[in-house]
Amino acid sequence: MKKPTQILHISAECYPAAKTGGLADVVGALPKYLNEAQVRAQVIIPKYDLLWINEQNWQEVYTGSVWMGYYDQPFRILSISQEVLGFELLSVELLGKFDRPGIYADPHGHPYGDDVDRFVSFQKAVLKWVQQLEKVPDILHCHDHHTGFIPFFTKHCPEYQSLSKIPTVFTIHNGKYHGDFGWDLRYMLPHFDNWVGGLIEWQGRINPLAAGIKSCWKLTTVSNTYLEELRTDSGGLEWLFREEAHKSMGILNGIDTVVWDPSTDPSLSFTLKKSVSNFKRENKKPIIAEYGLDPALPLISFIGRFAIEKGADVLPDLVYQTFDNNFPVNLFILGSGDPTITGALNGMQPRYAGKFNTFIGYNEDLAHQIYAGSDFLFMPSRVEPCGLNQMYALRYGTIPIVRRTGGLQDSVVDIGDEGGSGIMFNHVLTGDILHAFYRATVLFGDKKKFKQVQGNNMQLDFSWQKSASIYVSIYKELQKKIA
Ligand code: ADP
Repeated sequence: MKKPTQILHISAECYPAAKTGGLADVVGALPKYLNEAQVRAQVIIPKYDLLWINEQNWQEVYTGSVWMGYYDQPFRILSISQEVLGFELLSVELLGKFDRPGIYADPHGHPYGDDVDRFVSFQKAVLKWVQQLEKVPDILHCHDHHTGFIPFFTKHCPEYQSLSKIPTVFTIHNGKYHGDFGWDLRYMLPHFDNWVGGLIEWQGRINPLAAGIKSCWKLTTVSNTYLEELRTDSGGLEWLFREEAHKSMGILNGIDTVVWDPSTDPSLSFTLKKSVSNFKRENKKPIIAEYGLDPALPLISFIGRFAIEKGADVLPDLVYQTFDNNFPVNLFILGSGDPTITGALNGMQPRYAGKFNTFIGYNEDLAHQIYAGSDFLFMPSRVEPCGLNQMYALRYGTIPIVRRTGGLQDSVVDIGDEGGSGIMFNHVLTGDILHAFYRATVLFGDKKKFKQVQGNNMQLDFSWQKSASIYVSIYKELQKKIA
């Protein structure tokens, strides 16, 4: 019997082990669906000092060390079996680098200042371990700039020559972060001939995102529209994205329909039985009660990072305009990030109590409850590579109000159009969003149409099966190149 194609996903995040956003959700879900599609997928991440990671029963599979330019860094590769997550999860223990209580920043939000050191040593350790495996993976699938050197290292560094025939896929989940640094840190990288140095450079700096784009065998982004947007707006890499169009492809993420199942989700106070109306009503109640909101009004929620890409900077003005203009809605915000936004929202809360509240922080259970209990979920994103929130919302019968961008454009259809599932607006401007809120109140008032859209949305298929099959065809196509 033919052996299944073996894929190693290399990533900084993987749900539920380590998550700050969508990258973790994708890396924690796609491998499960690949395994169902007769592909053997494993995931490797750094071993952080995080609760879920610390609770697992890790088995050591390899120990070694990597040279970091002026010192030897020991590492261990640890594994937990496929039964736990539906795929084998490996972690790289790099003491002094990742044994910290955060992924990129400490629990107070202060970024760790040594990401170059951390992620270069991670990538080197992964490759060192792979090199000595009896059966090396058929494909190395790298995610975002933290693993962007791997396509370059395997293709152009003599130390990893034995891996040069392994095709690499590089998926960009968030092109805003390049991970770039100055040439003074070159000593951390493995040796390469000077004439290939241009492959890791962009605008005079070492740029791991650019390195991944240039050297990978196949480049993917998490939606088609986002791929197009990167060609005109990617923080200086526009020209590179246009040059590499021949090997690029947009593949919309799916959602993990086992984790995000309204009929079994353990985070919900009421799971879906037969009636969608009961499901929505019973899940709205605890939010209204806990946060002192008005039960008669529609509940519009926001979940996400307080970051410019998410359009979170408009939140304070939007809250102010919504209530000073007497819009008949409740607003609830779950998020964390930029302290200026947090401060502004906290300051406004008492003024609009009864219709407005927040939860500042990261709370997975509350996020699930909000997807189920809200009437609308709004996403004023400036940039949204794929966006998962709108898909979770659709699955839980919550109508998305989204800006027409990236993956939002590829996954939501305006209710004014055939098969409409949500409300769309064009600009991250309070006026535009308020107009969308107005349309939401009109839809909320039309009970028949509102229920119809809710019900239709819950039937939409955003499962991973479709996207996973596209990844499988990419892997097969790459394998043919080396056959
Ligand atoms: P990004 O990765 O850019 O942050 P995505 O839409 O791809 O955005 O993924 C966001 C994920 O993070 C979703 O699962 C969302 O529910 C979750 N999330 C974001 N902020 C919070 C928060 N404060 N509490 C709980 N979950 C959150």
